[in-house]
Amino acid sequence: MGYRTPFQIHLLSVISPELSFTIRHDNYRMTNSGRLTFLTVIFLLFGCSLISETQRGIRAIYFDNNAGGPQIHTYATHGNLSSLPTSVLFKTGELSSAGSFQEWAATNLDVSLAPIVRLTENQSESHVKYQQMYEDIPIEGAVYTAHFEDGLVWSVTGQVYDDIDVDTQADLSAGETSNLLLEENPDWLIMDRSTLVVLPAYSGEETLFTLVYRTGVFDKGTNVAGNVFTDADTAEIVRVEPVMVSALPDGTGTTSDGRSVQLNTQHTTEIPPIEDGIIIQDLREGFRLMDTTRNLHTVSSGGSSMGMEYLFNPQDDGTINWADWNYSLASHDVIEDDNIWERSPAAVDVHWGMQVAYDYFQNTHGRTGFDGNNGYLRGVVDYDQGLRNAFWFKYMPGVFYGDGGSYGRSMTVLDIVAHEYTHAVESSIVDLNYYEESGALKEGIADIFMTDIKFQNGRNNWSVAPELVGPNVRNLQDPHASEAPDTFEGRFFGEFSTAYERELGLRDLQQHHNSTVLSHWFYLLSEGGEGENDNEDHYDIEPVGRERMVGVVYKSLFMLHPNSTFKDMRDATTSIVQREYGKCSEELKQVTNAWNAVGVGDPYCDCFEGSFTGRFETDDGPAEMKYFFKKDKYAVEVTDSKGNPQVLYTSSTDPYHHVRGYPDIDASTPQGFMMKNMFQRKIPLFASPPPFNTRKEYLEYRNEARTGRTREEGEYTVYEHRMQEATVWSTEEVCLSFADLAGTIGAFGPSGSSGARQMFFGFPTEFTVPGEGSIRVLDIQEHPVSDSYFGGAFLSPSN
Ligand SMILES: [Zn+2]
Repeated sequence: MGYRTPFQIHLLSVISPELSFTIRHDNYRMTNSGRLTFLTVIFLLFGCSLISETQRGIRAIYFDNNAGGPQIHTYATHGNLSSLPTSVLFKTGELSSAGSFQEWAATNLDVSLAPIVRLTENQSESHVKYQQMYEDIPIEGAVYTAHFEDGLVWSVTGQVYDDIDVDTQADLSAGETSNLLLEENPDWLIMDRSTLVVLPAYSGEETLFTLVYRTGVFDKGTNVAGNVFTDADTAEIVRVEPVMVSALPDGTGTTSDGRSVQLNTQHTTEIPPIEDGIIIQDLREGFRLMDTTRNLHTVSSGGSSMGMEYLFNPQDDGTINWADWNYSLASHDVIEDDNIWERSPAAVDVHWGMQVAYDYFQNTHGRTGFDGNNGYLRGVVDYDQGLRNAFWFKYMPGVFYGDGGSYGRSMTVLDIVAHEYTHAVESSIVDLNYYEESGALKEGIADIFMTDIKFQNGRNNWSVAPELVGPNVRNLQDPHASEAPDTFEGRFFGEFSTAYERELGLRDLQQHHNSTVLSHWFYLLSEGGEGENDNEDHYDIEPVGRERMVGVVYKSLFMLHPNSTFKDMRDATTSIVQREYGKCSEELKQVTNAWNAVGVGDPYCDCFEGSFTGRFETDDGPAEMKYFFKKDKYAVEVTDSKGNPQVLYTSSTDPYHHVRGYPDIDASTPQGFMMKNMFQRKIPLFASPPPFNTRKEYLEYRNEARTGRTREEGEYTVYEHRMQEATVWSTEEVCLSFADLAGTIGAFGPSGSSGARQMFFGFPTEFTVPGEGSIRVLDIQEHPVSDSYFGGAFLSPSN
């Protein structure tokens, strides 16, 4: 191969004209040994089939002997919002405190973090959430959570941004912004003052950062609340995001039940004379729905909604000056003389339902109170008039229940109370944005815990409040029954609005509708199921069990960040299952396959343990690569035509940050330059071809490329594919081990390999391009592999 600047990989450009990989750096020119490295990279790329793993960004999995587990780094959800990792695994003991993590992030990622809150689960486990700041202004939704075990950071997950460039001088003040909003929208109330934030949004090509005010508003006309983001210079609305998290979209149907329940109440004479600074003296004697142990309180708003409350300051001269106003809710205790509650069924429903949900989270997940700290939670019945919904509202922490209007029954059945209680729990852990995929996750999570609570209380069905609204408002077992999706971006999957769409209607943005992708995944793992999804992927899921899976979902909450996507949820749950049950476990296989069943990512491949050898041609003659796999470990040796080792790469070298300090990678050579930059993600090395949008698109493409010829290679059936001039023989699906390896080497930059990997149909055993050469796997052997293969370090390429 001659000298080219910048050079291109013609092997790939032959396959697909748009797939021309161009190195965006022209300081280095190709040499034969450079080509050797490149062929290695090409081969590794072709050894990976993380097709739908990469639909929404790049994922790489790293392994580390010392950490004893996988290092999973996920990039760029919602398209490519950021090239910074959404997950980092640290070696045990590497970081000892939250402070050292902040320093690590500042040094290694160049991001500024401010701690927000510490979430403590038990004596050995805690999590600290950090807000990313840009010139002292918070970046909306940019959160990292550091996970501690026995006082040491072992992992960090979340989403933060790089390459932020925004002018932080606002032309408008917060007060001016609020006033302009109220002038234009007289039905709105300001619930949360205008706050300056930097809003990131993916335009389809790049992440745009805008300096905005975030203002919490409540629309009196529609009884809906939202965060309104306005340009800090012009007050133009750039985004509206609902914050009220309701149980149901409008629906139809009605029924009732008459269960006898126990309630924790409080006699009014036991109430302290002063509560929250308010003197209590007018309560009628009797019992109220205050559970002083669980800190749960049920009140009624008697059909009223939010009202304006005027505040006055008494002056020394006896006059009173107007001071300010607030919005508040007039509510009152529900009193029963004899503690036999027969006259307020809605309040009984809510009080009992909250007790059940509280006990469930306490007994099943070890969480005391919705916030893990036995915090006060209020349930409000008879909110407004004719409201056929219920919602969790973070501005006035509590859950509000409508009277049901035409349903003829309050929106207070256990399903709804449990669903809303879960919203309160989730909000106190991750607080997913009620928008796009994160909003759908929020609803799916609420339905998952709702279902577990129902089953534990003898309500054994997979529908949401069927006795109230009919069986198919949301049916987790059969989402299609209610025209909801069971496959990500499949049939009935609702279009999310774009980030910058002006959504003044504050309507339901498909959060409930699309949530069934997640809740159906949970159903499949609870009960099992076989079928074909909308991507025409066949699946056959053996149940892992509802009880075990709900524990995984609970733990995954701590791994998510406010903008998490379905893919993030897949990553969180699979990493938890892998940590608990192992990389080659039946549990991980089922959980992974269930994600594939709902259209999120690839199916599981059997664990491969053994080695294979690849041979390819260089200008100097043949060269070989040997790969060794053993559960979480792998190693690669590359030798040139003279038998000299060129690259030895093992799982003991963490390419993300441990290699960073290796002075022995000589960046003056092409190989060293590439390796160093690949590992450190300093630059995007390759231009990316357009990716497949769905797994179905990929499968159609693959099937068109198949010639129908097959042959046996060791224990594997391999298939011939023709793509323009190239011929590729490859297996049906790639073992996760191969994918891990290729994902590691192949994770070049912000978007570099995502499209390239979608060209691969399995593990290739032969790859030929006329006039360019070929790569041929000499053998695939499953056998025990010595640990000595994995102990080496990265070798500087010799010339
Ligand atoms: Zn909800």
